[in-house]
Amino acid sequence: MNYQKKTVYDVDVKGKKVLLRCDFNVPQDKQTGAITDDKRIRAALPTIRYLLEQGAAVIACSHLGKPNATFDAYVKKQVEKGKKPEELTEADWQKSNKKLSLAPVAVRLSELLGIPVAMAADTVGPDAQAKAAALKPGELLLLENTRFEKGETKNDPAFAKALAGLAGADGVYVSDAFGTVHRAHASTAGVADYLPAVSGLLIQKELEIMGGALENPKRPFVAILGGAKVSDKIGVINNLLEKADTIIIGGGMAYTFIKAMGHNVGTSLLEADKVDYAKEMLEKAAQKGVMLLLPVDTAIHDKFENTDKFLTVDTAMMPDGYMGLDIGPKSVRLFTEAIRGAGTVIWNGPMGVFEFPAFAEGTKAIARALAESDAITIVGGGDSAAAVEQLGFADKMTHISTGGGASLEFLEGKVLPGVACLLDK
Ligand code: ADP
Ligand code: MG
Repeated sequence: MNYQKKTVYDVDVKGKKVLLRCDFNVPQDKQTGAITDDKRIRAALPTIRYLLEQGAAVIACSHLGKPNATFDAYVKKQVEKGKKPEELTEADWQKSNKKLSLAPVAVRLSELLGIPVAMAADTVGPDAQAKAAALKPGELLLLENTRFEKGETKNDPAFAKALAGLAGADGVYVSDAFGTVHRAHASTAGVADYLPAVSGLLIQKELEIMGGALENPKRPFVAILGGAKVSDKIGVINNLLEKADTIIIGGGMAYTFIKAMGHNVGTSLLEADKVDYAKEMLEKAAQKGVMLLLPVDTAIHDKFENTDKFLTVDTAMMPDGYMGLDIGPKSVRLFTEAIRGAGTVIWNGPMGVFEFPAFAEGTKAIARALAESDAITIVGGGDSAAAVEQLGFADKMTHISTGGGASLEFLEGKVLPGVACLLDK
């Protein structure tokens, strides 16, 4: 995939209307609907400010949660949850969708930007059309949840055209919702058929840093993979074997590889149906001359719980009845040594069950090694990013990717529809 895409810096938006796709999919309090974390709203501010300063009228849009775009879809989901169809009314459906209105986001945006933010009552309906038509340079309008429209997830051309139409004949589309670029939806990809499409500042950074690491990494290029499931990251391992100099595998997914090497893994996390695949990957690494490092020692316990009474054993000597819950100190030394010499490090997935303090040491040590390294350091994956933030190392990383699923597909080398649709440089 080509990562060299035009950005907001490459287009003239003065006096034009810009349709801006943001990621305002914020967590909310179940009871009150209050926004519990506005990180994603803050992340969108640089692009919004830039566009407003350039004299654009900005029409922002986003999805929020998973509303039901039709009454039928609502009934189907409720029936799956055990409700009776005759008890369900259109009013209930409207009420449940109302909870996923972007109106609270408009309020927060206005507070953060210090300017009024107009909120449309619909996505492409009469209110959105009237407000978009009246919008002046330097003003900001937020459309209602794109997933209120059934054409959104279906990437329906008619809906994409209506959305693009709000920006008018000389409008521009700016994509800045990295978390959804792996989805071909109307607001993330379809609209690019009707408007010149460029990236915002968030996506630009993702493409520059992650694209740069995959296409032309500063070497040695070290990839660290962890987390719970091999099956989640098969594509990533396979793609990175083509690009990296060293691959480090820790966390729960390591045991499928340890098993593939012929060792006992006790009651550790094991994907028995992926052992053959792990063998293939070990062989591929050897053929390609990629160094593949696995934990040489492991913190084990007989139950899945936090405890001070865990044991540490050589990974090749795991006893029956015990499970590996973290990498041991020898592995930490081995892995940090590899990180120390690196030019680029990509990290995805914790080294152990870091939610239990006793088994967070491996993950902490790797986070610290990245923080202390002079290499380009990139962290992807929700749990690894959360671990880095909790430890206070976030500002020591070159880049923390904002999209979990999207960053995995990026590392897999897949075509991302929301990126592919943007104009090439
Ligand atoms: P990310 O979100 O960074 O991509 P994953 O979602 O793939 O990471 O994996 C994170 C999960 O992996 C965590 O909940 C963690 O507890 C779990 N995990 C890590 N090591 C182990 C292990 N040895 N056994 C069981 N689960 C593990
Ligand atoms: Mg996760």
